[in-house]
Amino acid sequence: MGNDRTTSRYLRQVTLAGIGEAGQERLGKSHAMIVGCGALGCTSADLLVRAGVGRVTILDRDLVEHSNLHRQQLFTNQDADRRVPKAEAGAARLRAVNPEVEVHAMVADFNAFNAEAVVEEGAFGTPDVLIDGTDNFETRYLLNDLSVLLCVPYVYGGAVGTGGMVAVFRPGKTACLRCVFDEIPAPGSQPTCTTAGVLAPVSSVIASLQACEAIKILVGADAAVSTDLLSLDCWGNTIQRLSMRDARTPDCPCCTERRFEFLDAVGPSAVSLCGRQTIQITPGSRAAIDLVKLCASLGSHGEFESTETMLRGRLDGDDGLQMTVFHDGRALIEGTDDPGVARAVYDRYIGT
Ligand SMILES: [Zn+2]
Repeated sequence: MGNDRTTSRYLRQVTLAGIGEAGQERLGKSHAMIVGCGALGCTSADLLVRAGVGRVTILDRDLVEHSNLHRQQLFTNQDADRRVPKAEAGAARLRAVNPEVEVHAMVADFNAFNAEAVVEEGAFGTPDVLIDGTDNFETRYLLNDLSVLLCVPYVYGGAVGTGGMVAVFRPGKTACLRCVFDEIPAPGSQPTCTTAGVLAPVSSVIASLQACEAIKILVGADAAVSTDLLSLDCWGNTIQRLSMRDARTPDCPCCTERRFEFLDAVGPSAVSLCGRQTIQITPGSRAAIDLVKLCASLGSHGEFESTETMLRGRLDGDDGLQMTVFHDGRALIEGTDDPGVARAVYDRYIGT
């Protein structure tokens, strides 16, 4: 293995019985792809780069903002002042942490149109593990489709408020995400980090568990990989484990029938309305939205009013964009002609 510096860098890790020299060598030959470089993505990328995973791809569509800094550990105040793309700022920091790792940054929205190409044809080819650093269910179902299609393990994670969840889905060996959560939640039905806040140590714990599972997968420690859906609340001091050993459903559209509905989604989910500085967002799920509840959760982010069929208002932040949300989850984001910005605003304030 490598030079003296390399040997000493990984010394405390190689000493572990579960890793050893052989495991370290496997890590060095592995490729991890982290989709989303928010709090979860920052921490898991940092841990995997320090651990010596040979190639790491990070993908994110957003720019660093000051409201990210309390939890997104790869970014500095200067990154937020300069509004650097998260993938770029993250990659620069990761390369400084461990120059032996090849880091590929992709500044892109991850969606049905580009997901397959991004994962299969990125700089390092198909990854050995997919890590969830996303903030919405639509993207998670897309990652799950890809995981099953390409037979790449998917490490799911989510954190909001003071709690979070982690699970590992290994195609051919375990249930997939859709076996466990069969329906995409209705838009606005779930809290988001923007509407409910998030405690930084919670994201950090969840991302650390994700990185731990990824390391086990990459060194080939199959028997050690968690088969539970782990859910914890760090304020209420509760931990729940739900075994997923029998969670595979015989009629799962994804892993049984191999219908990749999120990859095959027809029609754009974000379209620009010509000449109006307005983007229309159509969510992946068709479930009705609770406008009164959504209006209440948006109250601290701007002036909003709801009627029976729609909600409308202007955000205090995000450049004062105006949002109109209809009861079927469709939304108009006014004040931008960038579909990526509009999708990000939708995911942050409404969520899926
Ligand atoms: Zn399934």
